[in-house]
Amino acid sequence: MTSTFIIPAPAGELRPTASAFDVIIIGGSFAGLSAALALGRATRSVLVIDAGHPCNHMVEAAHNFLTHDGDDPNQLRARARDELMRYGTVRLIAGRVTGISGSEGSFEVSTVDRTWMGGKILLATGVKDVPPAVPGLAECWGRSVLHCPFCHGHEVRDKALGVLGSGTSGHEFVRLIRNWSAQLTLFTNGPAALMPEQREELTAHGVLMNEVPIDRLVHDEGLLSHVLFEDGSQVELRALFVRMPFRIPEELVLPLGCKLVGTGHVEVDDLKRTSVPGIYAAGDLTLPMRSLAAAIASGNVAGAAITHAFVSLWR
Ligand SMILES: Cc1cc2nc3c(=O)[nH]c(=O)nc-3n(C[C@H](O)[C@H](O)[C@H](O)COP(=O)(O)OP(=O)(O)OC[C@H]3O[C@@H](n4cnc5c(N)ncnc54)[C@H](O)[C@@H]3O)c2cc1C
Repeated sequence: MTSTFIIPAPAGELRPTASAFDVIIIGGSFAGLSAALALGRATRSVLVIDAGHPCNHMVEAAHNFLTHDGDDPNQLRARARDELMRYGTVRLIAGRVTGISGSEGSFEVSTVDRTWMGGKILLATGVKDVPPAVPGLAECWGRSVLHCPFCHGHEVRDKALGVLGSGTSGHEFVRLIRNWSAQLTLFTNGPAALMPEQREELTAHGVLMNEVPIDRLVHDEGLLSHVLFEDGSQVELRALFVRMPFRIPEELVLPLGCKLVGTGHVEVDDLKRTSVPGIYAAGDLTLPMRSLAAAIASGNVAGAAITHAFVSLWR
């Protein structure tokens, strides 16, 4: 269902163009709202459509974000939406985009109950995290199962920590997490795919290894207490770090013909242009290193770049 959660700007305030909106932004979290701010301040008519499920919706305190370290990201988003209300050419609606067609100058963006016209598109959908099939892990995601030590490592420093992973990526992740705690175990959930020298390196740095298959994570409302193994043994943990697999909204991105990079993210240039004319992308959809600051920065660049693209045509 598409419903307006912010009162739209009066139609008369929208810049008259051949398209209903200069720009339609898909996704109204840190990247999308940041771009909308830049575009609104450039008096561009902007529609932001947001499905309301940002990746960190369950997090109560976001960190490593200058001047707002420890703030609730949902409150930051609400404040950003309030700030956008100052700009009469910006309209935000709740809804899920189900398809995008057309070409630069006349894109058609479909939600469940209607179609919107836009001259340019900004994809700011973020990515969807796909938790590994370990019982209890999804419930702890964002509370005690963590992906980013820069975001949450300081809060669990020097505590009993784990890394779930194997092979070279697990080995690399352990090396990073070891920066925050020496009480560290690598859980491989079955035989580890590590080279002998990698095992030796972990042992030399006091990192424990546990290769027993995991039965489940035991937690209290997402706060991990211990890992229970199939052989009945258990290990107490404060937090478990996981490199979370993710997926992009392929159903939107691939039919458009946007190229992807090797990591699976949408390819963009320095101006956040995708490989398809008129389509831009920003935020987690384009960034392997996920952070509020990076998402906001990329949305900001996209907003300015889109404005430049219009003015270069005297539009
Ligand atoms: C658990 C967790 C904790 C984190 N903690 C921190 C932290 O402490 N500090 C930090 O700097 N970073 C943190 N991050 C990273 C940070 O949250 C992201 O980098 C940032 O939210 C990315 O912003 P975004 O706008 O690209 O995507 P998102 O915030 O994920 O928002 C994307 C928006 O697009 C919408 N959307 C998706 N598809 C559609 C569609 N088809 N139609 C309409 N709307 C759509 C979604 O519903 C969502 O509202 C954390 C991430 C996670 C997962």
